[in-house]
Amino acid sequence: LFIAFEGGEGSGKTTQSRLTAIWLRDQGFDVVQTREPGSTKIGMRLRAILLDAAEKGLSPRSEALLYAADRAEHVEKVIMPALQRGAIVITDRYVDSSLAYQGAGRALAPEEVAEINAWATGGLMPHLTVLIDTPPEIGLTRLGGAADRIESEPLEFHQKVRKEFRTLAAQAPERYFVVDGTLTPEEITRLIQDRMREILPD
Ligand code: C5P
Ligand code: MG
Repeated sequence: LFIAFEGGEGSGKTTQSRLTAIWLRDQGFDVVQTREPGSTKIGMRLRAILLDAAEKGLSPRSEALLYAADRAEHVEKVIMPALQRGAIVITDRYVDSSLAYQGAGRALAPEEVAEINAWATGGLMPHLTVLIDTPPEIGLTRLGGAADRIESEPLEFHQKVRKEFRTLAAQAPERYFVVDGTLTPEEITRLIQDRMREILPD
């Protein structure tokens, strides 16, 4: 079982994916909790380039390719081996982040970003994507400007990102579970657990 958490900055993806992993482990499941970018040796170096470049200005196409390279490493070295041994994999961000940030945010053609990512991942997509849908104004206050993108991008950038995530969710309702990110963390956790129960193996 492969689960992705998506959403903008300060939406609570990291917190909720961690809580979900703990909850599943308590039930005896083998769980691998991971994130993008930067969950492999090479990925850590790519993360450093990408987050630095977010401030310095990297060409949108190179940015999309570097995220795709990070993801290719992630799939081959971390995600696939875990899935093959029967673990549940929970990732904080995946392909849809690239469609939202590099596609909508950077104004690259979404079909093209989807294509390079399909190639990079060998077509591996999550069984379930949890979108924690949060207005950027709220996410922004939560982080107090701490996130890389919040410092380097205007509010409109984050609004485009949010809109794209919502569009993606509307296009694939069977794969997406959208949670209102303005609810309390406890309410969000409970909604995610209710949805997860529907797909967990016995
Ligand atoms: O998930 P996290 O907040 O750690 O992501 C680090 C930074 O990378 C964020 O500022 C996020 O906006 C950015 N990012 C991006 N494109 C992606 C994934 C993350 O611009 N595909
Ligand atoms: Mg995070």
